[in-house]
Amino acid sequence: MAKAYDLIVIGAGMAGVAAANKCASQGWHVAIVDAQSYGGTCALRGCDPKKILRRGAEIIDSARLMRGKGIEDPALRINWHDLMKHKRGFTDPVPHNLERELASHGVDTLHGQARFLDKNRVDIAGASLEAGHFLITTGAHPRPFEFPGNEHLIDSTDFLNLDTLPPRILFVGGGFISFEFAHIAARAGSSPTVIDRGPRPLKGFDPDLVDLLIGRSLQAGIAVRPSTTVTAVDRTDTGYRVILEAAGGPETIECDLIVHGAGREADLTGLDLDAAGVDWGARGVSVAGHLQSTTNPAVYAAGGLRRHSRNATDPGGCVRRQGRRVQHGQRHDTDPRLRRRAHRGLHHSGARQSRDARAAGQRERPGHRCPLQQHQRLVLQLPHRRDHGGRQDPRRPHHRPGRGSPSPGP
Ligand SMILES: Cc1cc2nc3c(=O)[nH]c(=O)nc-3n(C[C@H](O)[C@H](O)[C@H](O)COP(=O)(O)OP(=O)(O)OC[C@H]3O[C@@H](n4cnc5c(N)ncnc54)[C@H](O)[C@@H]3O)c2cc1C
Repeated sequence: MAKAYDLIVIGAGMAGVAAANKCASQGWHVAIVDAQSYGGTCALRGCDPKKILRRGAEIIDSARLMRGKGIEDPALRINWHDLMKHKRGFTDPVPHNLERELASHGVDTLHGQARFLDKNRVDIAGASLEAGHFLITTGAHPRPFEFPGNEHLIDSTDFLNLDTLPPRILFVGGGFISFEFAHIAARAGSSPTVIDRGPRPLKGFDPDLVDLLIGRSLQAGIAVRPSTTVTAVDRTDTGYRVILEAAGGPETIECDLIVHGAGREADLTGLDLDAAGVDWGARGVSVAGHLQSTTNPAVYAAGGLRRHSRNATDPGGCVRRQGRRVQHGQRHDTDPRLRRRAHRGLHHSGARQSRDARAAGQRERPGHRCPLQQHQRLVLQLPHRRDHGGRQDPRRPHHRPGRGSPSPGP
């Protein structure tokens, strides 16, 4: 028989975990599920591990910039193996700590691939679970290439787990992931090349800043090739032969490693959103206000997966628009309590998150706050709150002594 929840969150990355904790602390009966380890891209396979590696590269770069100015250390170098070990010291504890934190808030932590059976039920590892609301936070994955030999490319997750760094690395796609990785690799002793099919890489970033970055990239030993595409990749005895189509015609280059850095798309594979009556497309789930599906009011979508509704094309913009409406007193929902909660969330989210993290005994995560972590504040304004035993102080974790985590999967 289907087990009933107020909310099932699909995807235990930063977006999903924050929403699950928050809704549980408001008294909702919440479950969260992930097909992989808890933590998602940012904490395990993206922002945070990258920043650990980048810190090593920054130290090398700083020392080089001071050469001849009082700093001399010709032997200074990155020990990739040790740097990766250091990185794992941050990432390895994340899944366990997150699951423990969720359980302490009364959230059921499940494992497996979620697939919709109908508008209100999902299958998780063979168990049928029912909920009044679903939040899809399944993130993004690399957009597949079509050219022959595309199976030889590794993705960003593989790069962040490399045991050794080979000398000649080709990054396909001139986005921020390629540039950050290329700068790390250059400081670690490799010779990276970044190719981009457009006339200017880092499309969408300030052109003047991009020019400065390209200049610094060249100084650091990174070759940047605009208006260039890959047409095929062949395996050779020593590495790979890559056939390029460049402005001057076809070219061939040899390299040891090829990294996919050409963009990501919403990861909705296997969810069977059609069974739930959810409108979706290549750019994500179609959502309206409050990130609610335009076709199934029980379903919300947030985080790294993109949406294609006019009202919510980017998380940051969505937060800002909502913030403006709240601040200027314009009604954005029929329930005034929701306006007040949105207001509180927008102004105090950072402090509260740090407090909650400290209270849960979590280590500070290095460096940054994802835009999503603001964005989630809005996702949490779910309507039709059901009361489970009294009003909770939203700033305090809601403990449910005695409730276990009946995981239907391994
Ligand atoms: C290399 C790299 C570096 C980045 N650096 C930065 C940065 O410096 N700053 C920044 O702001 N952003 C950065 N990002 C982007 C950032 O990581 C993402 O925007 C963010 O992690 C998205 O979070 P999310 O919670 O929406 O999804 P994710 O963290 O991707 O989590 C989605 C989860 O859903 C699970 N899942 C998917 N489908 C199913 C299913 N059917 N059933 C169950 N579980 C499922 C996945 O296993 C995954 O764990 C980076 C991304 C990458 C790849």
